[in-house]
Amino acid sequence: MSRRVPRVTLIRGDGIGPEVTESALQVIAAAGGQVEWDEQLAGKAAMDAFGTPVPEKMLASIRRNKVALKGPLETKIGRLGFRSVNVALRKTFDLYANIRPILSLPGVKTAFAGVDLVVVRENTEGLYAGIEHQIAPGVVESVKVVTSRASRRIARYAFDLAVREKRRTVTAIHKANIMKLSDGLFLKCARDVARGYPKIAYRELIVDNACMQLVLRPQDFDVLLLENLYGDIVSDLCAGLVGGLGLVPGANIGRTVAIFEAVHGTAPDIAGKDLANPIAILFSSIVMLRHLGQAKAADRIEKAVHGMLGRGKVRTRDLGGTATTSQVTDRLIRLLR
Ligand code: NAD
Repeated sequence: MSRRVPRVTLIRGDGIGPEVTESALQVIAAAGGQVEWDEQLAGKAAMDAFGTPVPEKMLASIRRNKVALKGPLETKIGRLGFRSVNVALRKTFDLYANIRPILSLPGVKTAFAGVDLVVVRENTEGLYAGIEHQIAPGVVESVKVVTSRASRRIARYAFDLAVREKRRTVTAIHKANIMKLSDGLFLKCARDVARGYPKIAYRELIVDNACMQLVLRPQDFDVLLLENLYGDIVSDLCAGLVGGLGLVPGANIGRTVAIFEAVHGTAPDIAGKDLANPIAILFSSIVMLRHLGQAKAADRIEKAVHGMLGRGKVRTRDLGGTATTSQVTDRLIRLLR
């Protein structure tokens, strides 16, 4: 019985985006991944072509295909009208869960070994609701919005992920001792949801203590559940535990749409020089393939990347090597054959 090949919106992105996404396309094909790519422009490339960084055509493609793979996009700091294409995508498709799996990699020297955790970050509200105003000269307010609807759905996502991935513990991270109402509501929702998952252990940690515990014993953590700002900060801290942003995948998940992306930026300093490390977008592609039900191709890519890193010969400059993006891609394709 032949299964329909899924169509996926492809946004190559700006800066090093086209180089790392090209690597992902070649490696996915070599691993037997079945994807029909629907290529669209966003960010600077779309600005140059259509005069807008968020073209309706690109949004319509994601709406239709429900899955996208995205390279990094350039965001001009302080430009009026749009804060960031990434924020626009999150809002348009209500991508409420930001997921970042964090795994120690063979051959990548860091302060820690044996880290295997997942950061689940609420992606739509908190201090990122974008409500800021000046109430008098020299006095401004940023409003932290927490709703039980968004807190419950992200808590449910974290527990469902724990069940799906056969994980044991969900840790809710908060500052409810100070923000009694907002973080208090977030925690209350997490506790309510936890009661529905008796097989998954639930614990709570105050965010400052959580940061200390994470850099003392990251191996003790499993699934981390956080509101938006703490999630933003802690997910980068966690990326640092296993070698940095160039090595970790990212996914933004909504009820109907999922966007998989490299979490690093456009790296303008090395763009166009064939120096970028494609591993982050490769790992995001693995998460995407699993989402599409293509676990076999995902496992093959994972094995090839781990094998390449473990041997330690072919690695890009950011990992202390001398290999180019194309050499990494070619090596992986050879390993997959
Ligand atoms: P950056 O991640 O682009 O670069 C930081 C440093 O990391 C640079 O030295 C860069 O060379 C290096 N680096 C990043 N990715 C790498 C890779 N794959 N391989 C090797 N080295 C890599 O961060 P930045 O300089 O703060 O931001 C540059 C631009 O990227 C900005 O316009 C910013 O808005 C945008 N950005 C986009 C995203 C996204 O679309 N998801 C995320 C972060 C930043």
